[in-house]
Amino acid sequence: MHRDTEIVQAGYRSVADAGTLLPGPQFSATYVTPGDPADHAMTYGRFQNPTWTAFEEALAVLDGGQAVVFASGMAAVAAVFGVTLKAGDVVVLPSDSYYTTRALASNWLHPIGVQVRLAPTRDNGQAAALDHARLLWVETPTNPQLDVCDIQELARIAKARGVLVAVDNTTATAYLQRPLTLGADYVVASDTKALTGHSDLVLGHVATIDPQDATALRTWRMHHGAVAGPMEVWLAHRSLATLPVRLGRQCQTAQRLADFLASQPDVQTVYYPGLHGHPGHEIARRQMQAFGSVVSFDLATRGRGEAFLRNLKLVREATSFGGVHSMAERRARWGGDSIGEGFIRFSVGCESAEDLLEDVGGALRQSVALPR
Ligand code: PLP
Repeated sequence: MHRDTEIVQAGYRSVADAGTLLPGPQFSATYVTPGDPADHAMTYGRFQNPTWTAFEEALAVLDGGQAVVFASGMAAVAAVFGVTLKAGDVVVLPSDSYYTTRALASNWLHPIGVQVRLAPTRDNGQAAALDHARLLWVETPTNPQLDVCDIQELARIAKARGVLVAVDNTTATAYLQRPLTLGADYVVASDTKALTGHSDLVLGHVATIDPQDATALRTWRMHHGAVAGPMEVWLAHRSLATLPVRLGRQCQTAQRLADFLASQPDVQTVYYPGLHGHPGHEIARRQMQAFGSVVSFDLATRGRGEAFLRNLKLVREATSFGGVHSMAERRARWGGDSIGEGFIRFSVGCESAEDLLEDVGGALRQSVALPR
């Protein structure tokens, strides 16, 4: 069966079943459970929920393995750190990963005795930092610089040295890239982004092939209470069926936007794995189905970056990415990344490509009219 068809059907009741296609959200803090709790599939709202189960079945179709849903992408990141690392262990993170992942490690893992080692994503730079490591944390393409590394090659090197591999798959989503099939032990995602795509919920998940790892993650969730609300999970599940349509279109428009920006003399650098000149282009072609919905570029100065954002008519200035509505921001306003003041992270939505390119072209003309 074609993958798009599998995703449209994922986690829904079978065509032979009478009744609703996808049961609505189940709001239940507790369940009636006479006698031995082991006799009941559902016991308490922090332990299990049928709406989670349906969504996790759908995620398992996308990622492979077993999926565990969490209250946010960061709750999912923290769970993988929690089940794999203890005092004395070494974790190797990308120096250009999503900033909060690095902040979580340096603020909370380092003080309890986990050594945090940073190395660049580009050119598989993390391979050289694996000595005595317990966990290799990969993010590809990275947020916001969209650097790419070779998951299969890094997993091969890490495995040979007994190092566990986790991949943050947020920017690509499981539709474009399947790290578990490339040798990763864990795949993690912020489902707040393109996976659900409507900018209306915060959610995350982890998938893993080993059933014992999945059990450990569920136990972590139960003990730490990082549980998702049934409404968010149900909305996420409903959004999943349109993932191939949404993201397919977003990727096509993102490529056109990247090509256009790359042709503009006043745009310093365009970061998009779909561009032939991108240092990770060949790897991305091999391991991704398409190159994603985010395009980053550099307008050299804060003034030009702000003028660009101010003059956009269709595109909102907002953080986050992957939604059906295009949005952009000057990423340096948050701090934490090695980027210039004019660096723009642009999330391409589902508007018509022509309208979007016209809007971007107009805002760019206004922006570059300013001195550098
Ligand atoms: N990982 C990446 C790559 C992200 O971009 C984000 C959020 O932007 C997260 C993890 C955290 O996700 P959430 O905001 O859902 O907690």
